[in-house]
Amino acid sequence: MRYLIVGGVAGGATTAARLRRLDEASEIIMFERGAYISYANCGLPYYIGGTISDRDKLFVQTPESFGKRFNLEVRTLSEVVAINCTAKHITVKDLRTGNTYTENYDKLVLSPGAEPVKPPLPGINMEGIFTLRNVPDTDKIKTYITEKNPRHVVVIGAGFIGLEMAENLHQKGLRVTIVEMADQVMNPLDYSMAALVHQHLKTKNVEFYLNTAVASFSKQHERISVLLSSSKSIETDMVVLSIGVKPDSKLAEETGLQIGQTGGIVVNEFLQTSDNDIYAVGDAIEFTNPVTRTSMITYLAGPANKQGRIVADNICMGNLRTYLGSINTAIAKVFDVTVASTGVAGKLLGKMNIPHIDSITHSSSHAGYYPGAVPMSIKISFAPDTGRLLGAQIVGFDGVDKRIDIFSSAIRNGATVQDLAEIEHAYAPPYSSAKDPVNIAGMVAQNILEGITRVISWRAVAACTSENNFLVDVRTPDEYQLGTIEGAVNIPLDEIRQHLDEIPRDKKLVVFCGIGLRAHVACRILMQSGFTEVFNLSGGLKTYETANQKQSNEDIFANDYIGHDDNIYQGAKEKAVLKPINMQKLHELDACGLQCPGPILKLKQTIDKLDVGEVVKIRATDAGFYKDVKAWANITGNELVELTQEGAQITAIVRRGEPVNKAIAQRNSNNATLICFSDDLDKALATFVIANGAIASGKKVSIFFTFWGLNVIKRQQKPEVKKDVFGKMFGMMMPQSSRKLGLSKMNMAGMGSKMMRMVMKDKHVDTLENMIQSALNSGVEFIACQMSMDVMGVKAEELIDNVQIGGVATYLERTENAGLNLFV
Ligand code: FAD
Repeated sequence: MRYLIVGGVAGGATTAARLRRLDEASEIIMFERGAYISYANCGLPYYIGGTISDRDKLFVQTPESFGKRFNLEVRTLSEVVAINCTAKHITVKDLRTGNTYTENYDKLVLSPGAEPVKPPLPGINMEGIFTLRNVPDTDKIKTYITEKNPRHVVVIGAGFIGLEMAENLHQKGLRVTIVEMADQVMNPLDYSMAALVHQHLKTKNVEFYLNTAVASFSKQHERISVLLSSSKSIETDMVVLSIGVKPDSKLAEETGLQIGQTGGIVVNEFLQTSDNDIYAVGDAIEFTNPVTRTSMITYLAGPANKQGRIVADNICMGNLRTYLGSINTAIAKVFDVTVASTGVAGKLLGKMNIPHIDSITHSSSHAGYYPGAVPMSIKISFAPDTGRLLGAQIVGFDGVDKRIDIFSSAIRNGATVQDLAEIEHAYAPPYSSAKDPVNIAGMVAQNILEGITRVISWRAVAACTSENNFLVDVRTPDEYQLGTIEGAVNIPLDEIRQHLDEIPRDKKLVVFCGIGLRAHVACRILMQSGFTEVFNLSGGLKTYETANQKQSNEDIFANDYIGHDDNIYQGAKEKAVLKPINMQKLHELDACGLQCPGPILKLKQTIDKLDVGEVVKIRATDAGFYKDVKAWANITGNELVELTQEGAQITAIVRRGEPVNKAIAQRNSNNATLICFSDDLDKALATFVIANGAIASGKKVSIFFTFWGLNVIKRQQKPEVKKDVFGKMFGMMMPQSSRKLGLSKMNMAGMGSKMMRMVMKDKHVDTLENMIQSALNSGVEFIACQMSMDVMGVKAEELIDNVQIGGVATYLERTENAGLNLFV
């Protein structure tokens, strides 16, 4: 028998090796277009990043060693350009010489893989723009980095490979910007799970845009300018395109083999194409997904390898083995988190109208009391009638791999959530808990399925109106004070039985806590007390907050301002000035493995026992602790001396402060904040009259200049600044400085403002310019809104001295401590 194989990497090489092991007498020739065979595609990003330092380690086999071991012929740089199914021969082009020749076959196996998608965008073929599929691509990227020493890279596409590249290039020392067209990274995940990845990326000093497409590339002073759909452009030194792959099925199509709707080669359960003597495997085939029963392509190494083995068996033994299909079990390391998925995500099930219920649980990687426990978030989707598991997603730090494999086996075997609840796992504190996170996910789902609890998603809660819904936060008052869902009433779990009369019976009750556990107990109390419409927020406040806050962070890098909704990143921006710590008075606390509010409660209990000035160093792994500890310290008058995050572990150093009166801490009437929005002379005057009056009466005053208000604080003599077209246009149309401001009413082409200035002079009222100067001299804080400056093309050099550039967050922080807040 004569077996020919097209493609010599994952699927092709596996098929060849297995064929030889089963049939020593056959003739086997493997054709590979490239120079290398059987290499580790999956290791390429790690070689680029330097984690794999030795290039040779990428090669599992060389053509020579493989040929020798399996007594077969490996022809590299040999492209199969045509297949004649009738004559049963292929045409091969020798890429060294350009010559073509034919080879006959008895059986042919196609494993041509997938090729990166490269849309026809202007400038896409420019130097410095790369895709990554194989070793030559890798070498090109490595060489470019060595020779050109790029400082910045734009990674386009935030799928598994895009994020692996982002991490590795970041590790290599490049500043990384990720641009993703969808509203989330990693498409196989549901949004709420991807949101966990977004929040993690924010802590890693990586810039990323969501909902943003790339429009074109152009050369800009030896750099690449990447124009985004938002009209913004990013200047960079290199670009990695990883916006997806498509099956390399051109040869099969030209041969007349059946191609499916997905563009993949259609195969039957024996992995035979529409021609009985041609089999196909790997990234190029489409196959029925066992969960959805629709045709799909799996771009993963595991299935390609397993299919290769099945095909070899079927060729040698006569269609003995059937392929059951892949459920897309995948895993990736994204900086410190591990992200994995198997089966079908809730959003895809929804799109396909497949009935399902989703449930989110948050657990620890192992027993909380054993050191090193870290959080793990799990989302599962299951059938509402039978409880059959349809999909699972995990984001965590440790032990994600073994849990996703359990879920994968469960889905493959048609297991139900009841089965998950009973899965027997090996347990000792360093490895798991007596109820493994997989069991917990199953138990919660079982409760849902059996009507013991009803869940509501974060999306549904976000859309809730107070008219028909009543939100109950069953956490402790301390936790409630750190932040809750708008409109929620705080009834701590341990007091709920005493407050049943205060809870309306004619409204839908949405009950929540940190992660859903205490809320479940509360729901059970309520349901057994006659409340009928009781729902537990799935995944608790952790999921709700993660999914509801700002997901991308493009504004941080470009403008150094942040939205107030960006709770996680705000903490990271603050560089605390370290006051000396008396090490003898340092108390160490380990709150790792404790879920919210555990770490805060532990910190509170310890700090309450300390003297003023004593310091606690606390380590925690609950992601929410990063935000909570800051808010808690503010509210309680303790000092957050340092806050750092390393992997999953958050370390806070907190100094015991004087106990504060909470009412005073929250609303310090000694401060005043004003927003100067308008550039009308009268309104600007009003702003400064109030500001100067307030500071004279002992208040600390901040003025936030936004939009037209920026014109009030422009210099009269401005330096030359470079502006784009819009900046120039705005510059021409807007007043050049405070002296050019008009009145809001009766301006009469400038006459009104001149008259106003004259009257002010007569009445010995200070000029606006004097008021501005005296405000500055008295210590009024001027904050110019960075976003408005960007929008209106105003440059920092155009503003008077002593103006800070800041964002909404800076302003809001000031308002939180102000008793007076005015918009002018
Ligand atoms: P390939 O392994 O791509 O092999 C196809 C080969 O066929 C190519 O070498 C090509 O040159 C050759 N060929 C094509 N047409 C012809 C022709 N006409 N004549 C001769 N030769 C031809 N999967 C995972 O499961 N986990 C991971 O972590 C992971 N990481 C990855 C990272 C990167 C950077 C890449 C690119 C892929 C990664 N994958 C990963 C995907 C995995 O590598 C593929 O799913 C797998 O290699 C597919 O096997 P295949 O045999 O179908 O195709």
